[in-house]
Amino acid sequence: MPERGSYDRDLINSILDEALICHVGFVHEGAPVVIPTIHARLGETLYLHGSPASRMLRSMRSGDEISVNVTLVDGLVVARAAFHNSMNYRSVVVFGSPRIVTDTQEKRDALEAITEHVVPGRWADSREMTEKEVKGTLVVALPLTEASAKMRTGGPGDEEEDYDLAIWAGVIPLTLTAGEAIVDPLLRVDVATPEYVSEYKRPV
Ligand SMILES: Cc1cc2nc3c(=O)[nH]c(=O)nc-3n(C[C@H](O)[C@H](O)[C@H](O)COP(=O)(O)OP(=O)(O)OC[C@H]3O[C@@H](n4cnc5c(N)ncnc54)[C@H](O)[C@@H]3O)c2cc1C
Repeated sequence: MPERGSYDRDLINSILDEALICHVGFVHEGAPVVIPTIHARLGETLYLHGSPASRMLRSMRSGDEISVNVTLVDGLVVARAAFHNSMNYRSVVVFGSPRIVTDTQEKRDALEAITEHVVPGRWADSREMTEKEVKGTLVVALPLTEASAKMRTGGPGDEEEDYDLAIWAGVIPLTLTAGEAIVDPLLRVDVATPEYVSEYKRPV
């Protein structure tokens, strides 16, 4: 269904920003690997982070091309014919050569973006990162030059002759919802729950 594809940059960005996590595909010692991880976008760059010990991130030192996918499932499309069952979704695939971020400011900006991507408002409220923590985190940048989006919306597309059948058809919408925050039992008693936690919702 190539007509569902798009290179619209705003659409690509909105899907990347809404998705909590991505899946990174890379080749390690000749074997294809796919690993889930957190991402964040800053302008035309996608950032990943993790432990310097991570095989995924270490393997990116080679600069070999990787791929990243994010997928948002918006609904289950239930058609009259099993053949026409589908899903409403928005997804993005990015290809590119990763770059290890060495500039301290870019690294801090990326770590802030990753923190804010998950819980907006958290970076300014967190204990500042130490030099040791920044040094101890590997950050990888991927240019968003080769990126595509694909999406499906709407109801089922059954065969003309099947619309008369007495079989239910439609869409079951799916959304990601946050539950009530669980307070850390070690929390100081004088610390109130911030609004960005109590009011947390996806998409942010
Ligand atoms: C929602 C989510 C968010 C995450 N965010 C981050 C992040 O931001 N940064 C980060 O560094 N890591 C993140 N992780 C952990 C990440 O998926 C890897 O486990 C981690 O980075 C270690 O990767 P590695 O290549 O060193 O794995 P290795 O230690 O080399 O893995 C060895 C083997 O363990 C198995 N394995 C590794 N990871 C997983 C996994 N997640 N699930 C099942 N099997 C696995 C595979 O078989 C793999 O070949 C996240 C995981 C999840 C599920």
